[in-house]
Amino acid sequence: MYRTKTCGELRLSNANETVTLAGWVQIVRDMGHLIFIDLRDRYGMTQLSLNADSDAALYNMARSLGREYVIQVTGKVIERTSKNSEMATGDIEIFVENLTILNEAETPPFTIENKSDGGEELRMKYRYLDIRRPHLKDVLVTRATMIRAMREYLDSKNFIEVETPNLIKSTPEGARDFLVPSRMQNGSFYALPQSPQILKQLLMVAGMDRYYQVVKCYRDEDFRGDRQPEFTQLDCEMSFVNQEDVFENFEGMVKHVFKKTNGVELPDFIRLTFADAVKYYGSDKPDLRFDCKIVELNDSLPKSEFPVFNNAIAAGNLVAAINAKGCAAYSRKQLDELTEFVKASHRGLSGLVNIKFNEDGTVKSSVDKFYNEEQLKEIGKALGAEKGDLILIAAEKASKVRKSLGDLRLELAKRESWIKPGTWSVFWVVDFPLFEKDEETGETNFVHHPFCSPHPDDLQYFDSDPLRVRAQTYDMVMNGNEILSGSIRIHQRELQNRVFNKLGFSQEDIDHKFGFMLNAFRYGAPPHGGCAFGIDRWVMLMTGGETIRDSMAFPKASNGRDLMMDAPALVDPKQLTELGIAVVNKD
Ligand code: ASP
Repeated sequence: MYRTKTCGELRLSNANETVTLAGWVQIVRDMGHLIFIDLRDRYGMTQLSLNADSDAALYNMARSLGREYVIQVTGKVIERTSKNSEMATGDIEIFVENLTILNEAETPPFTIENKSDGGEELRMKYRYLDIRRPHLKDVLVTRATMIRAMREYLDSKNFIEVETPNLIKSTPEGARDFLVPSRMQNGSFYALPQSPQILKQLLMVAGMDRYYQVVKCYRDEDFRGDRQPEFTQLDCEMSFVNQEDVFENFEGMVKHVFKKTNGVELPDFIRLTFADAVKYYGSDKPDLRFDCKIVELNDSLPKSEFPVFNNAIAAGNLVAAINAKGCAAYSRKQLDELTEFVKASHRGLSGLVNIKFNEDGTVKSSVDKFYNEEQLKEIGKALGAEKGDLILIAAEKASKVRKSLGDLRLELAKRESWIKPGTWSVFWVVDFPLFEKDEETGETNFVHHPFCSPHPDDLQYFDSDPLRVRAQTYDMVMNGNEILSGSIRIHQRELQNRVFNKLGFSQEDIDHKFGFMLNAFRYGAPPHGGCAFGIDRWVMLMTGGETIRDSMAFPKASNGRDLMMDAPALVDPKQLTELGIAVVNKD
């Protein structure tokens, strides 16, 4: 037996026991006549001590140990004279009687501590060393706890886990597919699943009733923001359900996972319509841990000659504002920074009007020339402005104003620390539209995916005004992040065909891409619906990470490369020949 105890479990109550531990040397502190070693494993750290007087050979061996040596020690648990309350095992140490070096180690390229001196690239290259750091190790432990809690809950509700294949035909989830060339049929390709969407629907046709799977999904997207080419979903599907059934089940699961993972009891989730989310928060995944709603002013602005607002209203644009509570004392520079923020190209506003409700009771605005104090106060009233508040107003195309003010409220929350650490906001967003118009091409696209059922009340607009049709689609939002999306599906062949047609698929395309699915719908498809959670993002939120990279064992770097394995990589030309592939452009 390599060990009788782990490095995280010994307490004062174990004093006088003789134990054997195995692990990695964190640090050796040579005090001249006395040596202390911190020994680490997955479970924690334990201090070892050796005394030159009691065994000189052992003492010399201990002196030779380097960082990250793998050792095994046997010794007696003794009470420490100077205890360390920061360490779980800080009341005791092991007085070493026997030491075996199981493996030597070269000095690692960075220190294995939470505050490491290694840059991100270096740590990704040596990810196996990075995972030895307590924080990353804890993340993986939390991830496992969460997934165990998900399985526990779903098992208790009669779900069964079914695996679906990775080599399939393209499933449209709105991203580019990763392709795998076929050796046996040169020129043909498998696609890696963007999600098991169609397969789980077919499992419902197959009568499986309640399915889930912890599953890898693959999307070949550009590395905008926080994306990984492969990520993990908790994918679920249920038969004979409506939206309420899905909500009840998965709200219950999220509450269970929280309780099991961090002990937090979440309150019941509110529901926000997509339309209200966008109107009041400028986003379909608003962070509701703080207030700061967008207020539309088109109908309540006092009369004035101010051309910017007047022209915007005349052009059918939107004048709207937010109340930056307590920010009236912002300097010129700070206001300029906020203006630059909304002017950034992806937001595209041309500026912000401000009104300051100063602490001394005066009201000052960048449009003093056009509005008297009474009128400014009237605007302030619509936003609940009090002394100390700063009102920021934008007037442009509605979509730009909403996006910019939505982003601005998040930016202000960051600057002003409006979000209390440890607070949670989890809720449903409902009533998404079924289709949207691509602003550049004018094409009708799906909002979620093409299998979402239209809202029965809106089917009447399907041909006359398709953008008005709501879908039975929902998201779950957690602290401003979308962590689930799902829908009630179309289970009727004709309706599915109509949606494909509306999306501009030719009949030939439909037959080629989805023929097998439509065919399955001939043989008794039950009403069904489901959802998928983004596990990596949920873990990131539970563990205080900043990107989903922080919640995976072996993520890709931001350019899509695996820095540890050095992938993607060139392959043997023989392999390409077998696949019938010639590489044309190699840079
Ligand atoms: N397949 C969907 C997705 O990956 C989730 C769902 O609708 O169940 O977003």
